[in-house]
Amino acid sequence: MNTLRFRIIILTFIVLPFLISAQDKTPQTTQKDAWSKYQDDNGADWKLRWNKKTGSPASMYGGKSKEYEGSFETKAKSFLKDNIELFDFENESYIDQLIVTKTVDRKEGTFVRLKQLYNNIPVVGGEYVTRFDNTNKVTYAGGYLYNKINLDLTPKISESVAIESAKIGLNIMELKSQPLTEVVILPWDGNYSLCWKVLLVESAIGKWECFVDAQNGALIYHENIVSNSVTKSGNVYLTNPGNGGITSDSIEVEYVGGKNQFELRNNFATPINSSGQVITSTTGNFYYTPPGSTVYDNTNFDYVNTLYHVFNFATVYIRDELGYTPSAIDIYVHQNYDNAYFDAETSVLRFGQTLTGDYFDFAKSNDMIYHEYTHFIIYNISGIYGFNDEKGAMSEGYADYFACSFTDDSNWAEWLHTTYTTHLRKLNTDPATFNYSNYDNISYRTSPVGSAHANGMIWSGALWDLRTLLGDSLADEIIFTSVISLTSTPTFLDGLNAILDYAGTVYPSTIPTIKTIFCNREISFPETPGLLQISTSSGGFVQLNWPLNTECNHSGYKIYRDYDFNGFQLLTTVGASTTSYEDRGITVGNKFDPKVRYKISAFDVSGQESSTSNVVTTYAGGINSKDVLNNLKEIQLTKFELFNAYPNPFNPQTNINFSLPEKSNTILSVYNTLGMEIKTLANGILEKGIHKRVLYASQLPTGIYIVKINSRGLETNKKYTQTQKIILIK
Ligand SMILES: [Zn+2]
Repeated sequence: MNTLRFRIIILTFIVLPFLISAQDKTPQTTQKDAWSKYQDDNGADWKLRWNKKTGSPASMYGGKSKEYEGSFETKAKSFLKDNIELFDFENESYIDQLIVTKTVDRKEGTFVRLKQLYNNIPVVGGEYVTRFDNTNKVTYAGGYLYNKINLDLTPKISESVAIESAKIGLNIMELKSQPLTEVVILPWDGNYSLCWKVLLVESAIGKWECFVDAQNGALIYHENIVSNSVTKSGNVYLTNPGNGGITSDSIEVEYVGGKNQFELRNNFATPINSSGQVITSTTGNFYYTPPGSTVYDNTNFDYVNTLYHVFNFATVYIRDELGYTPSAIDIYVHQNYDNAYFDAETSVLRFGQTLTGDYFDFAKSNDMIYHEYTHFIIYNISGIYGFNDEKGAMSEGYADYFACSFTDDSNWAEWLHTTYTTHLRKLNTDPATFNYSNYDNISYRTSPVGSAHANGMIWSGALWDLRTLLGDSLADEIIFTSVISLTSTPTFLDGLNAILDYAGTVYPSTIPTIKTIFCNREISFPETPGLLQISTSSGGFVQLNWPLNTECNHSGYKIYRDYDFNGFQLLTTVGASTTSYEDRGITVGNKFDPKVRYKISAFDVSGQESSTSNVVTTYAGGINSKDVLNNLKEIQLTKFELFNAYPNPFNPQTNINFSLPEKSNTILSVYNTLGMEIKTLANGILEKGIHKRVLYASQLPTGIYIVKINSRGLETNKKYTQTQKIILIK
């Protein structure tokens, strides 16, 4: 009766939380302002990603903070207190209550891990990591810190009611032991719930972590945290059947007390046979031998082999080396097709095996298993998966890279293909002579058009080069960490930028090497030009200078000009080795000159253009003193000159400027090719200096015209004359 009553209560309440729609938390204006201020104080190199669950920074990286003093706990908390507005904490008690759970020294820095408590109640998932470098400056901060916890902190239901609620929700009648309980704050769906966390142990494989709302008794969330792993033995191929015989090695399996048997599965993977079942053993040992041929079989051997390699890879490499703990996955073996793949939709691995295909049994090759399992990991971390575009190529590239890095062998799948004897794919390709003889002949620059596997060799080749030059552990760390910051549809350039972001934070000295490596694989981007400077040339024109771009694939510069606030327009492009430009269309020093502004960008061989440089400006009567580095005085114009018309060719108008060294009687006219005067732009006595005229030609037909100036100085009586061709194109 009791049970029934509870069931009804629970069913009534259990729907309530699901009515609250999942909502992202977005940062407040005050937080955005705080971020701007942070960058002002600590440098614009800092980058930030907001956490949609907490509404505070998910990660901050790319720069260095000021120095902090004291213990790691003091330093980490001082950093947070300095940025209390950024995290949107209402007061410092949020920070004071954080406790240090771990400090880890790694590569010239220390990671400090903090756990969040609120009024002494643990906040589920509230953890933050801050990295200090050897100079006690923060170079990275990230994680989950929850703010605005506004909650009644007194449970309304008792511990025993919470346990009953969890049992009913999971339909568990009997428990193996008295449940452990704890009151926690559970952030979920943009809100907080005060919960009883209840650990129910039903059996060896039924251990449940449950969250029961402490106010209304609803079972909000539960998951199986089963682990009753024991180390037993099984027969495996240490690499593949081509590399020697079957070996007995230890494998981690699950003991099921209630059935008094061992099951071939563990926390990381569950192989499922063609009948949809888990393989069992009463001894815990899984000694199967493939009958007859070492290539084809249909026994339990393959299940053991697959679990063995997934477990090794997941624990030794992904978890212990790369620091990411994978969730569990089901693995289907002996599928009736000539392929193996990670099925992203259902999140399972599938290994095929046919008697007639191009490939041997996929489940017998360790590097094949690592490859597919990496797809699962990368997909879980960043959602990257697919068969098209650069994201598909990257998915394959990462899968090959981590498989090969773990085995320390740049040849992938040596055994797998029935006709290839050396490898199926190869990562240590020479970028200079790289071709895809087994695939499509492709190049990144001419846009990848091959299959995801073929294009993936561009990406994995670059990653392998990185490993060769930086060493395996550093390359693995940089590559794996960079994946975390990628979205699900990255391009090669996104991937490179993510690598540079992380490497620039922790290992800045590796940046030039990384750029060169990727550039050799044609993955590069033009750098924003350095400081653009403006001055006056010896001829009295605008003179621009900038430092040389040195990145590979650099191809030239684009110079943009904004004349008299009409907006920036491309003025000209100049070559890769050019570092200066004299704009003969603009003279400097006349007080009637309009304002002219300049900026430049760099472009590369594939036409990618960088961001533009700083803007430099002339002003009426000279050059903006801020932009002038060589402190030029007022320009002395001593030359007679008819400047190049701008623009030319033109339609419908062009600027025609000239300078007079003395007060002069001047006629400026435009003629057609028959010598007929079309327009008179000046006629009379003009002062010394720059003069500007505009030819409006909307009434004139397309064609060549001649501009002619005749002038006579009033002081010296010197005569000047000059002509210039201009072209009207309508
Ligand atoms: Zn693949």
